[in-house]
Formats: sequence, structure tokens, C-alpha cells
Amino acid sequence: MKILVLNCGSSSLKYQLFNMKDERVIAKGLIERIGLEEPLLNHETDSFQQDKVPIDAPNHRIAIQRVIKELTDPVHGVMESMDEIRAVGHRVVHGGEKIAESVLIDDTVLAVLEGCTELAPLHNPANIMGIEACRAIMPDKPQVGVFDTAFHQTMHRSAYLYAIPFEYYEKYHVRRYGFHGTSHKYVSQRAAALMQKPIESLKIITCHLGNGSSVTAVQGGRSVDTSLGFGTVAGLPMGTRCGDLDPAVIPYLMDKENLTIDQISNVLYKQSGLYGISGVSSDMRDIEKEMKAGNDRAAAAIEVLAHAVKRFIGTYTAVMGGVDAIVFTAGIGENAIDLRATICADMGYLGTALDADRNNIRGEEREISTPESKVKIFVIPTNEELMIARETKEIALL
Ligand code: ADP
Repeated sequence: MKILVLNCGSSSLKYQLFNMKDERVIAKGLIERIGLEEPLLNHETDSFQQDKVPIDAPNHRIAIQRVIKELTDPVHGVMESMDEIRAVGHRVVHGGEKIAESVLIDDTVLAVLEGCTELAPLHNPANIMGIEACRAIMPDKPQVGVFDTAFHQTMHRSAYLYAIPFEYYEKYHVRRYGFHGTSHKYVSQRAAALMQKPIESLKIITCHLGNGSSVTAVQGGRSVDTSLGFGTVAGLPMGTRCGDLDPAVIPYLMDKENLTIDQISNVLYKQSGLYGISGVSSDMRDIEKEMKAGNDRAAAAIEVLAHAVKRFIGTYTAVMGGVDAIVFTAGIGENAIDLRATICADMGYLGTALDADRNNIRGEEREISTPESKVKIFVIPTNEELMIARETKEIALL
């Protein structure tokens, strides 16, 4: 049984085709520059690869038709016809408060997604375009939406309400939503499997550290608190996003620098984070290199990130009344060996001990705590696409 997983951005489309018999990816790729000049296709299977091939893709619908053409190509294709795809799983960023789990998409769900566009103006419109294109091309296939926000809908109001006038929550739905839910769910389930314990009995802190980053407290398999909030800028410092900030800084800077709302948003979302502090790059690899070459601002950027992650680990341990496992995932979490060591230094008070030798790995699933450590520490490469494929299979009742 084959399931197609799609992740549509405003001008891009990432896809993976899964054979659910063994959960193997049999083809995957990316179309960039959709609707722009010279769209490009990258497509690969076990025995075939093409990179940056110029194609015609003026919109998402034609881009998806091109993907189907590649998948069914008589020479390098991986299936005979589109009929072999049993369902399509779509990554959707925002489901607001109405969507607390993955759902089969129908007109009512699409209307809810349209309603959430204001909450995720950069992402939801592109996700909707992808869904509408698939409904047009494959009207008889179940389309399933898997939401970045859904996993966090289990948070209690004590964790999601902001202490601002309640009417703003009622009128504008201003509250903590959280993101990266599919990743936090996947790695927490994986950690439970590695520990050979039911997830219902575990308290897990998942650290998704990539270009965008968040930490989540997962108690009994449910998100009880998470560091991202209403927008995608709170919590940890990210590549170019500031993370937690005293709100007083915003009007102060607007006044001092005479900034408009767009300009201050640009500062907080695009000029801050690791890039803002280091002045070097938003990419952890560049910053590590600069730090090793003696750049003190690069060192400061890494120190601020490590401190923020440590702070959330302490906070979420308190929120859950303990912790059984800490998980590192995503580009930085899976690869930045020294950062993991800095975050986990001096955590003996929790009964946590990192094993320096075991920690010396990149991008591999492994327990990196000492055998005696009471709290386990894991590196678990995230796999949001597989999670989407699994949920699609379940929701489409295949
Ligand atoms: P996104 O949020 O875009 O999915 P990723 O999860 O791919 O991001 O993470 C990107 C980040 O991971 C970048 O800061 C990158 O520098 C970092 N990263 C990737 N590989 C390494 C590595 N080998 N060492 C340190 N950082 C790495």
C-alpha cells in the first residue's frame, strides 16, 4: 500500500512516497520555485536521481502532476499508475483550536483551515493550495491533514493562556499553540519504544533544535507544555528568530529606532537568534567554525542557546514533576555534539549523566547517557514524513 506525503510551501513542494508494508520511502523529491522563474525538480529513487532539472510549474497543481509523472515514468518510475496511491497525507502548519488531531479533509475542514490563515499567514495558504490541487487531481483518494499544532492541543489552559486581557483570547484566539508537534510526537514515541516502556507511564522532554526550534514536555504521551507560542518566534533562540524576550523591549526599540510593525517583525523573525548575536550566520555549522576560530560573538550565540535549552529542561521537569528521558532531534539536536554536552553539563541534580563517548555521534539514533544515568538521554533523528504517513494510514482506515 502506497501513501504520498506532501509538504507544500508557498513556492515549494516536498514529497515522499511510502510503501506502508515496510514503511520504506520508495521515492522522494522537491520542487522549488513554483510560480517563479525556472522552477526546479529534484527527484530520487533507489536507482535513479536527478537534481535541479528545470521544469514547468506555474502553480502547485501542475507541480503535483509533474510529481505523479515522475512516479509513474515508464523507465525510472516506481509504480504503474496513480491508482496505486491509496491516500495523500498533507503537512499542515496551523489547525487552531478546532483541530486536535489528524483529520480526513473535507469541505468543513478546509473552511477551518481558511479560518486559521490569519494565525499562520505564511504557511496555511500554501498548505491549502496543495490540498486543493490534490483534490482536483485525485478526487477519489482520501486526503488527510496532519497538523504541527495538533499534538499541543492537549495543553491545559494554565500552560496555553497568556496573562493578557481575556477578551483577546476570546476575540482573536491569542494563546500558546506550539508547533513541530509531529516531530515531538514521533521522537517521544520512539524514546518510549527504545526504553521498552509504555509512553503512558513516561515523562519525556523533547528538544527539537533546527532552524526553527522548540522544547516540549510530553507526559503520558501528551504535550503538556511547549516553548513555541502564538507565532513561531517564542521560546528558544533560533536561526534568525529571537525566542523569549521581555515584551518591554519591543515598544522600546520601535521608539528608539523609529521602526514600523513590519520592521520590528523583521528584526524579531529575520535578524535575531543565532544570526543576530553572532553576526556571522544563522547556520550552526558556520557559527561552530567561527567559535573555534576565536570569534567571541559566535561563542556567545551558542552559550545563549545552550542556556535557554537547559532552562526549559529545568522548567519542564518542574512542570511534569520529574523526567524520565531527554531527547535531542532535528539538524542541530542530532548533530551538534558540543552543544549537547554543554546543555547536559551539571545535570547530576536530576540524576542525569551524559556519556561523552556515546555522545560523539551525528544523525544517528542512540542512547547517549551513561548506563547508570537515572534519566535517559537520546539522540533520535526526527521523521515527520513517516509520522504523517502513519497517521494518514490510520485516519484513512487503510
Ligand atoms: P529546519 O528547521 O529547516 O528543518 P534542520 O532541522 O535541517 O532545520 O536544522 C538546520 C540546522 O542544523 C542548521 O543550523 C544547521 O547548521 C544544523 N546542522 C546540520 N548539520 C549539522 C552538523 N553536522 N553540525 C552542527 N549543526 C548542524
